[in-house]
Amino acid sequence: MTIFGSRRGFFSWTRNAMAAAGVSVATPSLAAVDTTRSALAGGEDYYDKLGVSKIINAAGTFTALTASIMPPSVQAAVSNAAKYPVRLAELQKRAGEYIAQRLMCDAALVSSGASAALTLGTAACMTVGNRPAARLLPLDVSGLKNEVIVQKSHRYGYDQAIRNCGIRFVEVETLQQYEAAFTDRSVMCHFFNAAEQGQITAEQWVAVAHRHGVPCFNDAAADVPPISNLWKFTRMGFDLVTFSGGKGLRGPQNAGLLLGRKDLIEAATWSNSPNSDSVGRGLKVAKEQIVGMVAAVDWILAQDEGTIQAEFRQRADRIAAHLKDIPGLTPEIFVPPIANVVPHLVLRCDPAKIGKTPIEISEILRKSSPSIELNPWTGRKSAGAGTPEAENAIVVGVWMLQPGEDMIVGRRLREVLSV
Ligand SMILES: *Cc1c(COP(=O)(O)O)cnc(C)c1O
Repeated sequence: MTIFGSRRGFFSWTRNAMAAAGVSVATPSLAAVDTTRSALAGGEDYYDKLGVSKIINAAGTFTALTASIMPPSVQAAVSNAAKYPVRLAELQKRAGEYIAQRLMCDAALVSSGASAALTLGTAACMTVGNRPAARLLPLDVSGLKNEVIVQKSHRYGYDQAIRNCGIRFVEVETLQQYEAAFTDRSVMCHFFNAAEQGQITAEQWVAVAHRHGVPCFNDAAADVPPISNLWKFTRMGFDLVTFSGGKGLRGPQNAGLLLGRKDLIEAATWSNSPNSDSVGRGLKVAKEQIVGMVAAVDWILAQDEGTIQAEFRQRADRIAAHLKDIPGLTPEIFVPPIANVVPHLVLRCDPAKIGKTPIEISEILRKSSPSIELNPWTGRKSAGAGTPEAENAIVVGVWMLQPGEDMIVGRRLREVLSV
């Protein structure tokens, strides 16, 4: 039996079972966080047909877990967009103008994700005012500026998206080194917003870059919420800013935003699909995803920050309450400081009282039906990159759970921890 074949049945079964066990089952109040796992719109369920497991995402916005689920308004926008052909250039232009107006920046482009935006933004800095140069990336760049200045502690797993343009990184650590790093080949100053270390602040990064006439880019891909970040960094003076479309914005997974200066956004389009002879031709965003990204911007701007955060905290509290009398288990709430700034439930385990390691518990939940993915910080030895120390802890990411799933996670954890 596929339990998700009749989700409604499963939920009411869960509710009744828990009610019978004397557990109070609060009905989630989700007016603002409308994450209904809606009935299929029609047609076949291809996950079932392919034998692909639908999971409960108690992890977070991880790409490997397909990150977020689009809210109903975004799903509807995607599905409606699929019904009509349009002129791609017109759609790209209007979508960019609309997003720029809503996010109070000069210009915007819908990319195929934040990673694509890093490539297109770098290409833009290298080719601005020189459209034919777009054909030269990534290998024939000896005649172009191609040095990207970055703090050593801001080197990260997305470097390659920038290097795709044929640049070389120039690393700095101190403000003095930063000042001295500019040459006539400096093309961009890159900043990783969620970097935990680095002596140079975002404001300093912008000020020094601008004194040298070099554009600067802020990768804030995972940094919504808070919603106000969507305009904070462009207002701070960053020439380019990216957000992933499929993380906290809950847009299509293969969409993202590149926001910033008009001339740079225009130059970014030269390297973007559908321009064939360019570094970004493979970074195509289809009409459905462009429209979905616009709808996601509308959706996020209609949310109330306090309400969203309160809802996440209630989910964490409900799960914790369900587990409260298990010996050796201490719940706490952890809110990462920059990226993924939402309450996570951290369940500290006393190894003497809990007979399994957190990693073993993750495995059991992964293999159970329904399959549950806990946050991968679970059981991780060291803190870092905004994560708590969790060697003896289970971490539940509650923000991508759909209505009712917090109670399923609570019930399964209780079962696994009680044997
Ligand atoms: C997730 C992430 C990206 C990539 O975003 P996509 O939209 O998946 O391409 C880039 N940079 C950072 C810091 C991220 O967290």
